This record gives sequence, structure tokens and C-alpha cells, in this order.
Amino acid sequence: MKVLVFAPHPDDELIGCGGSIAKHISKGNKVTVVYMTSGEAGSPNQSKEKLAIIREREAVEAAEFMGINNLIFLKNKDGLLKCTQRNILNIIKIIMEEKPQIIYIPHPADRHKDHIATNKIVIQAVKKAAVPCQQNSGRKPWAVKLVLCYEVWAPLLKVSFIEDITEFVEIKAKAASFHKSQAQNIRYNKTLRKYVNNNREHFHILKINN
Ligand SMILES: [Zn+2]
Repeated sequence: MKVLVFAPHPDDELIGCGGSIAKHISKGNKVTVVYMTSGEAGSPNQSKEKLAIIREREAVEAAEFMGINNLIFLKNKDGLLKCTQRNILNIIKIIMEEKPQIIYIPHPADRHKDHIATNKIVIQAVKKAAVPCQQNSGRKPWAVKLVLCYEVWAPLLKVSFIEDITEFVEIKAKAASFHKSQAQNIRYNKTLRKYVNNNREHFHILKINN
């Protein structure tokens, strides 16, 4: 089975669904993570150019530790992500190439604008990738059956699926610890403690192409 995870910034995927990713990998499922931005606005003490390089490297190190098969960095501007036609088309292309059965995205009531934009872009792309369309330049449609929305900066209002990650909590915490550039951020550490030291991950299930 193939799993596609969309993260607005490097580390969101670990906070929101790192245990579920580890569980997929333990079952032999192939996981690709798509970073919408490189999180270069994540520190006031670093230039954006430098921080993008640092955060991409942290993501690579965490992914190697986890056994994530493939990372895609789209390098959109951190803090300015919008649900544009161009962004939707980019994601349609990735969905058609990767052919995932499951997709993970942030939930729509997350407090960060980039997270909400990621949710919108991917949902549009999931719908459009499932039907033949001129812009798909000859690629075959691909219908993703299951989209799971994960929590980062705000709790889900409606939880429709809970994954038990008891066996994978340590892997999740260790993977998150590779993101050293974020460790100075008090809000980040609070969120990390809340989600990393939890044996369960909460999701809202979206069934789009049924
Ligand atoms: Zn984020």
C-alpha cells in the first residue's frame, strides 16, 4: 500500500501523524512525504535561505531514521501558501504519479494559514485527480479513497478515527528530535509535548471519491 503525507512545514507530519507513519512503515507500506514549504519563516534568528536548508536537512535526517521512502520539497513560500490553480495542479501531478491509497493532511480548523491552505489545495487535487481532465496531460486518473486529517496547532472538533501508536511513540519522539532548529520555540515545545507523548493520534476521516 502507498501512503502520501502532506506537511505544510517540515515536522508537521511527525507531530500530527508520526506514529501512524511509523506504523505504516512497520507493515511494509511505502510512505512519501510532501513538504509544501521548507519552513524558512520558523525562526527570527536565521536568514530564510539558511533556515530552509537547515530544516530540509532535519527533515531528511528524521526521514532516514523513520525509514520514510521518499521526500518531496515543493519550496513554496512559508507563511504565504495559497490555494491557487498552480498549487492544485502540482499536487494533482504528484497524486497521479504516486498513486496513494491513503492521504494525510492537516485538518481545516488548524490555526495556521499554511495548514488550512494545504488542506484546501490537497482536497481540490484529490477530487480533480480522480476524473479525466485536459490539464492532466495524458495521465490516468487516480481516485484516492481515504483522506485523514491530522492535528497540529488546534485540536480536531470532530474525531472520527483514532490510531493506537503505543508501540511507536518512542520512534515518533526520536524522529521529532531531529528538528533541532525548532527546539527554541516555546509554543513548538508545548505542542510537541502534547502530541508526541500521547499513545493515540486523532484524525477526521474524509471520504471524497466514493
Ligand atoms: Zn506547520
